[in-house]
Amino acid sequence: MIQVDKLTKYFGATCAVDQISFEVKKGEIVGLLGPNGAGKTTTLRILTCYMQPSSGNVKLKDYNIYDHPLKIKNQIGYLPESAPLYPEMLVYDYLRFVAGVRGLKGEKQFLRIKELALLCGLNEIMHKSIHELSKGYKQRVGLAHAMMSNPEILVLDEPTSGLDPNQISEIREIIKAIGKEKTILLSTHILSEADATCNRVIIINRGKIVADGATEDIKKDTSDEYIVNVSLQFTDFNSVKKSLDAIPEVNEVVLTNSKSDGIEISLKCVNKKDVRPEIYEIIKKNDWPLLEFYKKTKTLEKTFQELTKEF
Ligand code: ATP
Repeated sequence: MIQVDKLTKYFGATCAVDQISFEVKKGEIVGLLGPNGAGKTTTLRILTCYMQPSSGNVKLKDYNIYDHPLKIKNQIGYLPESAPLYPEMLVYDYLRFVAGVRGLKGEKQFLRIKELALLCGLNEIMHKSIHELSKGYKQRVGLAHAMMSNPEILVLDEPTSGLDPNQISEIREIIKAIGKEKTILLSTHILSEADATCNRVIIINRGKIVADGATEDIKKDTSDEYIVNVSLQFTDFNSVKKSLDAIPEVNEVVLTNSKSDGIEISLKCVNKKDVRPEIYEIIKKNDWPLLEFYKKTKTLEKTFQELTKEF
């Protein structure tokens, strides 16, 4: 649906976006994830035709950003980082204004505003001034604005930035509901957001794509390492370490907690092979009473740190 091809943007000598290419397919909810200054906002601005790239291209179906910016703008609903709302207007008047600009009049306008009020949970605040609204409600109004012309694609720049935890989960629910029918590309530096909302994640760092794939695959595929945590009712760490160190795939045995009646250890394993059976065999052979034994699943946060760390 969206094809980004070798997109590059320089601000003077600063390369904000560096030859990035990716595709977004119909129905996907894609998270553009990256630390501050990674180039997310710049990419989204180019995609929505609010900024020209230095080189490269973006295509939406048969249209491209150079020849058909208006066609592209009409098919994409864009929620910028801080939604440009008119603070002195009532929410209802503002939505009527947006609908009017989009060519919706009379009955059609009335019905669309009604639909969006329901979808974005605006019914209670329709007759409030925008300046009176909490940031969460302002964001909902911004979403309704972006959705007004019923675009096929929504581009959301940091949609939950600055919201409290309740507002975050409400906006996420709305995005998920919208995502059942639309294609969504959203940017975020909040890892849990990408994990909770998106079915695909593109990690961007210093203007370059460093990972692109299904959220679940990105979590597991970036490294061969994993951790196994073991808790024993046994206190002689040295003998435990000596035995477990003998497994070739175990790279490190670390004491993470020591109590009068037991120890907790963490084993760093450096091979895709699952060595839990070997670890368990050694524990059984030595008759160490086992309290806990589990493989630590990698979080997206860990992957993100690995892929975006400074060298
Ligand atoms: P954040 O999460 O902080 O919003 P981001 O990933 O959206 O970051 P961008 O805002 O795209 O990153 O910025 C990428 C780089 O381009 C940064 O180094 C930024 O300082 C620079 N930059 C962005 N916009 C401009 C501009 N208008 N003029 C000059 N430099 C800019």
